[in-house]
Amino acid sequence: MDFSKRYDVIVIGGGHAGTEAALAAARMGVKTLLLTHNIETLGQMSCNPAIGGIGKSHLVREIDALGGAMARATDKAGIQFRVLNSSKGPAVRATRAQADRTLYKAAIRQMLESQPNLEIFQQAADDLIIHGERVEGVVTQMGLRFFAPRVVLTTGTFLGGRIHIGLQNTSGGRAGDPPSIKLAERLRELPFNVGRLKTGTPPRIDARSVDFSVMQEQPGDTPLPVMSFRGRVEDHPQQISCYITATNERCHEIIRSGLDRSPMYTGVIEGTGPRYCPSIEDKVMRFADKNSHQIFVEPEGLTTNELYPNGISTSLPFDVQIEMVRQIRGFENAHITRPGYAIEYDFFDPRELQYSLETRFIKGLYFAGQINGTTGYEEAGAQGLLAGINAALAAQERDSWCPRRDQAYIGVLVDDLISLGTTEPYRMFTSRAEYRLLLREDNADLRLTEAGRQMGLIDDSHWEAFCRKQEGINGELKRLKSVWVQPDSEKAAAINPLLEKPLSREYSLADLLARPELTYSRLQEALSPTGTPMDDIDAQVAEQVEIQLKYQGYINRQKDDIEKLKRQENTALPEDFDYQKMDGLSNELKQKLLAARPDSIARASRIPGMTPAAVSLLLIHLKKYQ
Ligand code: FAD
Repeated sequence: MDFSKRYDVIVIGGGHAGTEAALAAARMGVKTLLLTHNIETLGQMSCNPAIGGIGKSHLVREIDALGGAMARATDKAGIQFRVLNSSKGPAVRATRAQADRTLYKAAIRQMLESQPNLEIFQQAADDLIIHGERVEGVVTQMGLRFFAPRVVLTTGTFLGGRIHIGLQNTSGGRAGDPPSIKLAERLRELPFNVGRLKTGTPPRIDARSVDFSVMQEQPGDTPLPVMSFRGRVEDHPQQISCYITATNERCHEIIRSGLDRSPMYTGVIEGTGPRYCPSIEDKVMRFADKNSHQIFVEPEGLTTNELYPNGISTSLPFDVQIEMVRQIRGFENAHITRPGYAIEYDFFDPRELQYSLETRFIKGLYFAGQINGTTGYEEAGAQGLLAGINAALAAQERDSWCPRRDQAYIGVLVDDLISLGTTEPYRMFTSRAEYRLLLREDNADLRLTEAGRQMGLIDDSHWEAFCRKQEGINGELKRLKSVWVQPDSEKAAAINPLLEKPLSREYSLADLLARPELTYSRLQEALSPTGTPMDDIDAQVAEQVEIQLKYQGYINRQKDDIEKLKRQENTALPEDFDYQKMDGLSNELKQKLLAARPDSIARASRIPGMTPAAVSLLLIHLKKYQ
């Protein structure tokens, strides 16, 4: 059946990748269709209802800086906000929000439904229309045909999805949702390299059956953080606490006794699971010397009693799950509302993608999200945004775009996937970024919003707010550099009590703010009685001014490193370069280099574990070789 509508871009899948892709393409002004199984599950969080955290909040802020939805939806749905690593440096500080699952979905749906140029249609995509090496559209389960020269595929865990609870397994895209079988079969006919991965989720628990009095309460932060650069605390719903408990030896005993019926330990599951988010059975086996593992007891929302016990994801048989849960402090009488399970699904080797996330083999076909071997809403959202941008740029006959590794975590993510591929679900960490002092969550807008505006992603009010902030930062930096404090002045008398040693010579306010013992607000407080103008500036401007002044030396050093690398970037590495002969390089790095056989210094430098010292060594050996 020919459905007369033609689009510039069709996005398949209404998860985190799909919704950002559809919104981005439509924001850029191209006619977009979002085709998804079920409109009710748009923006559904398949697992933990939480957004952000270390490495991940950086992606969320970058999506936000490019006009995306995730951070704004989080501000409308977040019921507990915290800044992790708040006592550490700004590079690794990360905002995390526990979200109300229903409010999050509602916020995403509202943004999708009010987005001009975007239409939504509920139906499974069963087939792709491909002519030669070009995609031309999609065929749905009912046989409807939608045409577009660009299709973004964001099918998450649904392709050939198989759900495991103990030795029982069934087909499913996630609990309660159908899998994508026909589309998975069709994709297997195309020249892509397919693999299987797995991920898991814990059983959910009814809060009414839990004794919170024996757990440690974990309230959110005060003052309340926001996720979006445009977020307002007033947008947050009611805030509630999470709780902390832990597993114990009895619980581990029960887990060990159930392993003969575990799909993972009996070889029923073939796919590799996320190393950094292991199941409880994996943790008990891998860290056999630990007799306890922490569990964060997180509410799923304001209008539900369901709790998410973060830390006990499992695919053990249900009877073992019940027994194991009831050994945990506070869960002695727990009622499980949904069993934990693992899911196995198809993913495609991301090395077969271009930086635009367009596949190398089929023109106009883009892959984004879990389908590329990643795990996590934030990783999916970031890729979806990028694929949507590039599909729209292609529709407008403009060059594709992908930020570099020194510009954004999105660049790190895509570059890692495309150059190294993945054999296990890939998640983001701050340690994956070489230039993490430059790629902070607090400055994502300063790094990306201008590029977003040029591509048509940023509307006028967003742009005006961004320009105001930028002007505020520049103005305040200039002012702080021009106000001088003499050692014997009234200002010095006000500031000296805050310093390790009293001032012995003239300093500018900018010099003083660079000192670790001074913050913008402490300086403001001390100077206000002296009549020194310290503008009552926006909190985001004050934060930027402070970070830029305090970390200037490190930031400049990273900028120099980037410049140096750029100069060496194109230095070719010969195919037969003998890494084994390189003295001073660890065996592990030699093996990695031999396996990856990078064709340039830039590619070699991105191999995990390659330090700047190892790159220098490589350059020295290369000189000898030539
Ligand atoms: P999804 O969010 O899965 O969305 C896919 C969308 O595509 C859905 O709307 C689906 O209905 C639609 N769709 C699929 N096929 C078709 C089709 N043929 N036609 C039309 N629509 C289609 N992440 C973590 O970071 N940590 C975890 O511990 C974790 N555990 C998880 C446990 C489970 C059981 C599951 C299912 C997921 C887990 N995740 C976890 C992963 C997280 O849910 C995903 O990374 C994220 O949702 C991926 O986003 P996505 O947009 O790629 O896909």
